[in-house]
Amino acid sequence: MLSGLTSLLLASAGAHAEELVVEAEAPRGRESSERAFAQAHYDRWASGRECLIRFGGEGRCTYTVTVPRSGRWHLWLRYAARSVVSLDAGLVGCELTRSLVPATGALEGREAWGWVRLLSADLAAGPLDFVLAAAPLRPDCLVLTDGAGPPTHAAPPAPVVHAPETLALISRELASDRPSWMDDVRGLRPPAWYDRVRASLHTRLSPRWRERETFHTAARALRDIGALAIVRHLRTLGEGAWWPSAVGPVEPWARDEDVATGIIARAHGVGLRLIAYYRHTEDVGVAAEHPDWAARDDSGRVYTRNGRPLLCWNSPYVEHVETRLLELVERGVDGFYFDEVHQPPTGCWCGACRARFSATTALPHPTTIDDRDPLYRKLLEFNDLTIERAFVRWRRAIRARREDAVLLIGSYRSPDLLDSHTSGRLPRLADGVKTEFEKGLSARTERLLARTGFAAPPRAARLALGWSWCRDAAEGRPPHVWIPRLRSTAAAQAAAAGVIAHGGVANLDPPEATIPDGRTFAAALDLGNRAGPALAGLQPTRLVALHHPERALARLAPDDTAAWREVVGPLNGAFETLLRARLPVGLVSDCLLAEGALEGYAFLFLPAPGDLSPQMREAVAGFARRGGRVITNRVEWDWCDGTDRLRAGQALLEALGPERHRRSIVVSGGPAALHVVSHGEGSRQVLALANDFAWVDTLRPRGTSAPRAPVEGVRVLAPAGARARELLSGERLRPRRDGNRSIFEVAPFAHLALVEVELF
Ligand SMILES: [Zn+2]
Repeated sequence: MLSGLTSLLLASAGAHAEELVVEAEAPRGRESSERAFAQAHYDRWASGRECLIRFGGEGRCTYTVTVPRSGRWHLWLRYAARSVVSLDAGLVGCELTRSLVPATGALEGREAWGWVRLLSADLAAGPLDFVLAAAPLRPDCLVLTDGAGPPTHAAPPAPVVHAPETLALISRELASDRPSWMDDVRGLRPPAWYDRVRASLHTRLSPRWRERETFHTAARALRDIGALAIVRHLRTLGEGAWWPSAVGPVEPWARDEDVATGIIARAHGVGLRLIAYYRHTEDVGVAAEHPDWAARDDSGRVYTRNGRPLLCWNSPYVEHVETRLLELVERGVDGFYFDEVHQPPTGCWCGACRARFSATTALPHPTTIDDRDPLYRKLLEFNDLTIERAFVRWRRAIRARREDAVLLIGSYRSPDLLDSHTSGRLPRLADGVKTEFEKGLSARTERLLARTGFAAPPRAARLALGWSWCRDAAEGRPPHVWIPRLRSTAAAQAAAAGVIAHGGVANLDPPEATIPDGRTFAAALDLGNRAGPALAGLQPTRLVALHHPERALARLAPDDTAAWREVVGPLNGAFETLLRARLPVGLVSDCLLAEGALEGYAFLFLPAPGDLSPQMREAVAGFARRGGRVITNRVEWDWCDGTDRLRAGQALLEALGPERHRRSIVVSGGPAALHVVSHGEGSRQVLALANDFAWVDTLRPRGTSAPRAPVEGVRVLAPAGARARELLSGERLRPRRDGNRSIFEVAPFAHLALVEVELF
């Protein structure tokens, strides 16, 4: 770490103004009772590429800047803040001055940084000691200047301009719609055991829990409250192996004792399936041994996450991970949980990536991280291919040894439908896409909505849309949805019910200190255990497909406003409309559309019909020839306006026409916020009915409100002669005859009902 003084940099700015910079992440002193206070954090757009995070709470940092000559000087702070912040700052030894610091609107990225003047004074030459007190913002740097206005230091560069021939190369498709590896996984069904367990428990028993009893007794305790499958760490974050691995560093405590085997054996001993949380991105030991395997940013600096170096997947690290995964397969794990971001979301600038990018594209590497630069965005496309290539390899290697091992692959921020890290191809490699309860919402989207005033569907619809994207991008396989910070049995059941109804696995996360906490989690586990056999083997019922057009999003990037208006807003609006109309709705990614994977659908909604590849156009034409109805978004459908949005929804339903009611099974009654998701086709369908779950907030548990009243008054209408049964209770429903229909009353339920309807 540089000291405040040595990081002092004399910058010449403008004609006369002098600027002296002190990086916030290099304070001379740091005082706090909190261990994690004021940590350095990488941000491409921060001065020196780092800023301070965890600066809220209690504490202060001290800086020294040397005033070069006596005169009038101004001290500015470069910072990022989501909302207006009250900041105490001032000279050491003086009373601190409180100022209200305006919001910059974001915490990271090019647009996130703003300036606030903290001091204007006549200063004598010599050292000046300055204090910043803790405040909920990200300090980036202090600049002392004799200029009148805000400093020019760290101003983003002008956008890069490319020659026409470069632009032509950039516009060439990098990824095929139908890469050959997709033949491995087309129509993939998940291992039966995974399909049958719709609630699991997530544990984060990292090495620091090793000396605690829970580390050794968790399996039995979790089994005792009803768990059938758990996710458990076998590598937490950048450390060595937990077993005597043939490759890379091994933790000292795992050299003589095979800790991983012990954990797996204890789980299997009590009849639990164990999915290994294997952290595949950061690696301290390997990066030290092979510096050329590390992922690097555009300044050549090694990327870090959580303070650990990230490894590049165009390096032999991919083989290293493969060896490790196979060692765990040999030890009996039932699957893998690949969390997080896979590769740096801003691309890699290491030698191997530079060479491979140029060989693949005939383009030079971009000069810098700048989402306004189409060449940089091409690198991100390449980044997605790098990720896919690694997972293709790991999947093949694992499957060759064990057929029923489950691969859960994280989709990062994709469920907000805006973020292209990762692509719609990656979920094809997952038995289940790993996602999170709240991933349908993102900070990026919330910022966009706040900035533009665009209206969006309510929270429940957007959460369901996020899970549905994960489910359908993986051809209907159950997404694995992490649900943390549940504080009551009702919250756990409501959240689990929502996820299960939409075809997912509820991955409930009890805090380690209170494992197993049956009071909070047993009922939700029971729900998942009973729902599993009822839903196993069934795909979501298909009626309306919404196309998620990645090509259109690539064309509109980095203009999120245009992307929302043209693509993401219409998808949100259409999804909400169909959800509320209780009509089956699914999503189709570019690669699935190119394959013509539209079986069962009667309608296809295209938000961006102009951005289809030739293969997609052919598939759409084939769909229409077979009687499918293609509906394109219309300019008069304003999905972004609070009032017009509802009119647009009505117009969409009218455009579908009476044919939308061709389904013979209909759910009526109950609250408007009821989620109705149908599974299966033909003579046996299971209607999953979930009470509103939007009151559960897993980001801010204090935002969790009171549970909803039980659902009452729901009726299922089916053709005469149909039989119906509620599968969680096993109770057969008695039909009431009404002309050529049978009407079934569903008994009141708190969270979830699964009504099986059989037609004859
Ligand atoms: Zn690289």
